[in-house]
Amino acid sequence: MTNYEKICLKSKELDVKKQRAVLKFINELSKNDTDTDLSEPSERSPEPEHLKPCPHCHTDNVKKAGFERGKQRFQCKVCGKHYVTTTGTIMENSHYGAKVWETVAADTLEENVSLDKTAEKAGISHNTAFNMRHKILLVLEAKKKKETTKISGISELDETYVLECEKGKKFDENAPREPRKHGAVASKRGISDEQICIMTGVQRGGAVYAETVNRAHPSNEEIKLAFKEHIAPGTIAFTDGLKGYKCLETAVDCVIESVPNDKQKTTGTVNLNNVNGFHSHIKDKYKHYRGVATKYLNRYNALFQTVEIGSFAITNLSVQNSGLLIV
Ligand SMILES: [Zn+2]
Repeated sequence: MTNYEKICLKSKELDVKKQRAVLKFINELSKNDTDTDLSEPSERSPEPEHLKPCPHCHTDNVKKAGFERGKQRFQCKVCGKHYVTTTGTIMENSHYGAKVWETVAADTLEENVSLDKTAEKAGISHNTAFNMRHKILLVLEAKKKKETTKISGISELDETYVLECEKGKKFDENAPREPRKHGAVASKRGISDEQICIMTGVQRGGAVYAETVNRAHPSNEEIKLAFKEHIAPGTIAFTDGLKGYKCLETAVDCVIESVPNDKQKTTGTVNLNNVNGFHSHIKDKYKHYRGVATKYLNRYNALFQTVEIGSFAITNLSVQNSGLLIV
């Protein structure tokens, strides 16, 4: 076997490992006790099957109780309830096994894979792939809602806009405009009510926050509503020229510094490079998805936050993966 073949083989193994890590991460989030430590999900060894704790009362005091549709069944000695290995995970009540979920979960978190490609890889229909992906996104959205992301230290705030999209919705003949084709541009110039505003905050070297708030430019009230709970007091936040951000100074006791246009891309401390980078990432993904229905934007925001923050096993594994190429 040549070195190249060894590397390919090793990469393939890592791919499987990565897929498993992603599914484990999602499953950890979807368990009833979602107080999950997200920092090192890949470090924890998988629970041995005979020790799967009760998903209802969380005790280890359980026993095996036969099989249910091929899955090990358990009974809790404390609360008496029966459950299987997938109870309390995203795979609960699913017709599909871990392998299919692993593929869909990894592709979703990797962001660059189309649903058709995922469907083909996993041997499922486009609709099934869509439903599974959205189940995963819902788990991420629930986590986003539950854990109030707070940015602090030196941060950058800005808003970005995506075209309104009614993808997947049957054309309504009373709609104010013709449905837009893929890659089409807005019919109105500038920022209009055809544009959905996503407010974003990036802490340098830290947390990331994205929330869809409205159409067109946000009002002061909307800025306050979007960021109030998500900026720690004492934060120094750089923004562009939009004056509305100033209202956050009294709302959260932070400092808002407006960055002049010519300094927005400099290498000095005063710049908006991080938040601009995050916007490029969002735009790039939307181009790749060929639009996302507006009603799903916050689910995708949760995905972007998860991926961008990197508090996720895939980051470590990707590093290992790329490390292999240097061997
Ligand atoms: Zn129990």
